[in-house]
Amino acid sequence: RAKASGRGSTVIYDESMAAELNERVSLEADLAAAAAESAFELHYQPIYDLATGKAVSYEALMRWRHPTRGYVSPSTFIPIAEQTGRIEQLGCFAIRQACADAASWRDDTSVCVNVSVLQFRNPGVLMQCVESALASTGLDPRRLTLEITESLFIDEFESTLGTIERLKALGIKFSLDDFGTGYSSLSNLSRLPLSIVKIDQSLSRDITFNTTSYAVVEAVCSLAKRIDMIVVVEGIETQAQKLAIQSLGADRGQGWLFGKPEPARHISEQQRRAA
Ligand code: C2E
Ligand code: MG
Ligand code: MG
Ligand code: MG
Repeated sequence: RAKASGRGSTVIYDESMAAELNERVSLEADLAAAAAESAFELHYQPIYDLATGKAVSYEALMRWRHPTRGYVSPSTFIPIAEQTGRIEQLGCFAIRQACADAASWRDDTSVCVNVSVLQFRNPGVLMQCVESALASTGLDPRRLTLEITESLFIDEFESTLGTIERLKALGIKFSLDDFGTGYSSLSNLSRLPLSIVKIDQSLSRDITFNTTSYAVVEAVCSLAKRIDMIVVVEGIETQAQKLAIQSLGADRGQGWLFGKPEPARHISEQQRRAA
């Protein structure tokens, strides 16, 4: 317990740190105990083509069904899975499941899967995972996009590029996620062999009132046009944001305005109703 002395705040600080550590250790143990795959599922969020107003793609977002906590966010458990070496298996599950789900969809919308930097440590395993997922589901490779982040290129630039080229030879696409956070650079954008760039919601959030965010999105859109990259803007929640990105020439939008992430069966049901 904290004493009423000058050191009291230190004790309280220590207590909250201990609580955080406990929380983490307990989540780590639960994650280790979670049965191979049945505890995880993918939800899908639509990505809209701004010109046609139709969903052209769905991003697979992983959810952990925790026995007592309900759905745990990937922002919490992916970092733990990365540190405990679980990410390779979990990441491959996501690729396999997303390919299977997309293969069952009625239309030819594509599916985007997030891939961790750590999955590139063993390129052979990743390659094998993508190949077998495509083969066993029969999904047209052109309908699969892997989402990566720029942190992938911080070290091992050449070997990473080699892995990407080999995966692209299978016919799949790559998109650069979270652009506008961390060390994003326009020169990276133009020298990487990627088809799509996704502008992070930290930029789109204030696009309608922050002139700097607006200018950055404008610059990315104009460069992307020149180098034939598709621009997706994430985190679109309002009509005003949608109009802003449309006027800047973005190709696609993703966010709650268009749809929240939903279980796979909802996507199939929506497609059945639309057909
Ligand atoms: P991300 O790939 O940038 O995904 C976008 C995140 O923004 C998702 O959070 C999504 O639910 C959320 N989002 C979408 N639209 C809106 C909006 O309009 N407003 C707001 N406020 N948020 C919106 P989520 O599902 O919690 O995922 C968080 C991150 O976890 C993802 O960020 C991705 O980096 C990672 N992740 C998710 N699934 C996987 C996976 O299977 N493998 C790996 N390695 N990472 C994953
Ligand atoms: Mg993503
Ligand atoms: Mg993103
Ligand atoms: Mg993001």
